Amino acid sequence: MLIDIITLPGDGIGPEVVAQAVNVLRRVAERFGHQLKVSEYAIGGAALRSVGVPLPEETLRACRERAAVLLGAVGAPEYDDAPPSLKPETALLRLRQELGTFANLRPATVYRPLLNASSLKPEVVAGTDLLIVRELTGGIYFGTPRGLQDDEAYNTMRYTRPEIERIAHVAFRAARQRRRKVTLVDKANVLECSQLWRRVVAEVGRQYPDVEWTPMYVDNCAMQLIARPQQFDVILTGNLFGDILSDEAAMLTGSIGLLPSASLGEATGIYEPVHGSAPDIAGQNKANPLATIASAALMLRHSFGLNEEARAIERAIEEVLERGYRTADIYRGEGQLVGTREMGHQVCRLLARATA
Ligand code: NAD
Repeated sequence: MLIDIITLPGDGIGPEVVAQAVNVLRRVAERFGHQLKVSEYAIGGAALRSVGVPLPEETLRACRERAAVLLGAVGAPEYDDAPPSLKPETALLRLRQELGTFANLRPATVYRPLLNASSLKPEVVAGTDLLIVRELTGGIYFGTPRGLQDDEAYNTMRYTRPEIERIAHVAFRAARQRRRKVTLVDKANVLECSQLWRRVVAEVGRQYPDVEWTPMYVDNCAMQLIARPQQFDVILTGNLFGDILSDEAAMLTGSIGLLPSASLGEATGIYEPVHGSAPDIAGQNKANPLATIASAALMLRHSFGLNEEARAIERAIEEVLERGYRTADIYRGEGQLVGTREMGHQVCRLLARATA
């Protein structure tokens, strides 16, 4: 298969971590007999410096023509006081908007060797492997009317059937690549929007008879996530609840340097680490590349349907951690402290062995 992707390394540690993810993709392509084509474009501060805008038209056009974009991070201190249109971060918001990425996928996997990195007890988080599928472009953050007048303020939560249908399909399809279980998280005892979600998800669910789905109230889910996180496979939810629950779930895992994400639309998917450009450690070979490498695995799975290849990357990450390699953010005095390049190299090495 031809894996034809765009990379947008961006700013700070972005280029360092994307370089490692590309090395890993090359290794996967070699081992599984695929052809990898990588085209790199500018975004963020890097684009501001070269062409004067954070998201050049050329970059946007190229992204529209591909199935997948692997992004590093954007943001640089020198633009902190710039007007919004000249801020690197504006590029990301516009890119998501232009590509219509309505589904945000955030996995939270607790790696066994890092059980002690979580703020919860190891026995509570052990075995956690869940995926939050959050609706990203609708709901109360976007609903109108909205307003604030003197001592009164209001917002509108609004969802339509097509908006719910398309995100439900993303969740059920993702569940098919995992443990075939979807939990719909809502507040259907209070909100009409949630009642519509339940009705539509029940209908969509009938098209996936091999996937089991159950509803759960959001307040209960917030509690269950820190009480028994292993019970979840795919969590499907709206924009507001997803925003809160995905941050809660992220904390189960330990470090921001481990968390990948995917934003899916009708055509192009954007894959990126959850962290930012980390200017404090940029250019020092200190950044943890595993979040970006795990994002590349999500890309293979969700944009190219290459589940076995994605699993091979995820297993290699687990094994590297198992063998004690640690970048500074996850180093707790044990194991071997390594830099960005060494960590990427170790994943490549194990990947070759695991699949050879
Ligand atoms: P950040 O995520 O860049 O950094 C927060 C802390 O985590 C820092 O101490 C950093 O060193 C550390 N860290 C982050 N990623 C790491 C990694 N891979 N390995 C090891 N340590 C890591 O967040 P911030 O400091 O609030 O923001 C810095 C810049 O990034 C800002 O300009 C911000 O706007 C931008 N930002 C961009 C994105 C994005 O591109 N998606 C997301 C968040 C922030």
